[in-house]
Amino acid sequence: MCRHLAYLGAPRTLESLVVAPSHSLYEQSWAPARQRHGTVNADGFGVGWYVDRVAPVRYRRAQPIWTDASFASLAPTVSTSCAVAAVRSATPGTSLDESAAAPFTHGRWLFSHNGRLHDWATARKALGAEAADVPDTRAGVDSALLFALALARWQAGAGLAEGLAGAARAVLDHGGGRLSALAADGESIAAVVVGEPVYVLPGADGVALAAEPHDDDPGWRELADLSVVQVDGSGLTESPL
Ligand code: GLN
Repeated sequence: MCRHLAYLGAPRTLESLVVAPSHSLYEQSWAPARQRHGTVNADGFGVGWYVDRVAPVRYRRAQPIWTDASFASLAPTVSTSCAVAAVRSATPGTSLDESAAAPFTHGRWLFSHNGRLHDWATARKALGAEAADVPDTRAGVDSALLFALALARWQAGAGLAEGLAGAARAVLDHGGGRLSALAADGESIAAVVVGEPVYVLPGADGVALAAEPHDDDPGWRELADLSVVQVDGSGLTESPL
């Protein structure tokens, strides 16, 4: 499935987050080391980051990240203290255009899903009434429904991890799936772990969450399946789903 990462900490360039690490997300797009479904992540990519306003900037393309010279040229010039980035391996039957590439965004939130809803059509029928309806939730991909369910909860006041957990629980009750997801709101990052690994690298200068470690730092640790984690100014909080 896809590879993705979230970062919160001291400002870093997009290049240092996405391209420079020894096993960067950039490299994971053609040579993922621990991917259990799919072999390359060439069906688009996206990066969302926060600068000096509430809403993130979001850059997406339908093409493989390694073919986008424009991204390579801007990445060293952009610094941020909070970001979500993803490279995509599309689930069969989903849209292949840019609108289906993570991260999805609305308001101050960013969202990325690694996995697959086992019964997207049934889940959409059952859960449509509790899903947010904004442009990014209308994309032709199962992940958009998971985003819509989390977004509705965030808009109703849920915390970042709480919204992810509620969305995952709702889908587990309607068909289930591999539902691991990352989110950010500019001041915190969060992950829910359901059926696809999520690793955390807690550091003095910042914390990364990722589908697989992007370097050989011994500090990387796999989070428990069926758990949620939130990272913010008060540190890292883990709890069972
Ligand atoms: N189902 C999502 C998609 O098609 C995520 C796929 C993935 O994790 N590879 O984009």
